[in-house]
Amino acid sequence: MPRAPVELCNVEGRAMLLRDGRILDIERRSGGKFGADPMAAIARWDELCAWARTQSPAESDPMLDPVLLGPCVPRPSQVFAIGLNYRDHAKEAGLQEPKEPMVFTKFPSCLAGARASVPLASEHVDWEIELVVVIGKRAEHVSEAQALSHVAGYCVGQDLSDRRVQFKDVPPQFSLAKSAPNFGPIGPALVDASSVDAQNLALYCDVNGTRMQNGSTREMIYPVATLVAYLSQHCTLLPGDLIFTGTPSGVGSVRTPRQYLKPGDLIRSEIVGLGVLENRCVGARIAAPRSDVCVRT
Ligand code: ZN
Repeated sequence: MPRAPVELCNVEGRAMLLRDGRILDIERRSGGKFGADPMAAIARWDELCAWARTQSPAESDPMLDPVLLGPCVPRPSQVFAIGLNYRDHAKEAGLQEPKEPMVFTKFPSCLAGARASVPLASEHVDWEIELVVVIGKRAEHVSEAQALSHVAGYCVGQDLSDRRVQFKDVPPQFSLAKSAPNFGPIGPALVDASSVDAQNLALYCDVNGTRMQNGSTREMIYPVATLVAYLSQHCTLLPGDLIFTGTPSGVGSVRTPRQYLKPGDLIRSEIVGLGVLENRCVGARIAAPRSDVCVRT
C-alpha cells in the first residue's frame, strides 16, 4: 500500500499536518521538537516528513476549516515564476516558445491562502492555474539529474495577472502586474514530493463553474527538473522558495471576446492529487492611479 503523503498547511499562522481532513498541530504534537512556524518546518523538511509519518490523527484533532488557511509557504525568500511554459498557452498568446525558461517574480507579499478573497486591482485581472514547486534544500549549480532532490514538494497556485499593468507598454511588465495583494493564492497544503508525479498532473481552472483551463503538467515545455537546474545556475535557491511553473491554455485575455474577472466571481483552481483553491473576487480597495479604471468600493 502506498504510504500517505505528508501534507503541511498553515492554519492561522501555525504549521499543521493535514491528515484525513484533520489538522495536527506540529509544535504541540512534537512536544516542541518542531516549532509552530511553517517556514521552520520547511527548513527541516526531511526530518519533519520522517516524524510526520509516525503520526496518526485522533478524534481530538479538529477538522480543517479551509477558511482559516494561510499560504502553506507564508514567507519565502524568493518567488520565481515562469512565463509561456505550456505549448498550447504560447500558441494561444500568439508567441513563440521561449528558447530558455522565461523568468519573472511574484513579490512574496502577494501570497494568500486557499480561500482568500482577491481584491481586483483593475477591470483586466486574469486567471492562471499553475503547479507551484517548493524548494526544500539549498540549490546552487545543480544538474537536472540532481534537481528534484532539492524539491520539498508541490502545491496549487493561482498566478493572478493584471493585464492592464502587464501590457501597458513595450516591453511588458510582468512582476508588478502579478504581485497585487492576494494575487498569489497557494495551497491548500504543501504535499511532499515523494507522493507526487509532478509531470503527470491534471490541472483545471473554473470561473463561476465554467471550465476555463483544462491541462496537464505533461505539456510543460521545461519540466520541473529543468527549471530547478536552470534557476540554480543563476541564483541560489533556498528552502521555502517557490517556483510558479506556468499555465496551460484558456486564460481570459486571449479569448474572443476577452474575458476578465469581476467582483463576485469565484475562481476554482484544482490540481488532481494536490487539492483545490477557491478564491472569491471582490472590488478594489485601493484607488487606481488611472482615470480609465472603474474603482469599486
Ligand atoms: Zn503564470
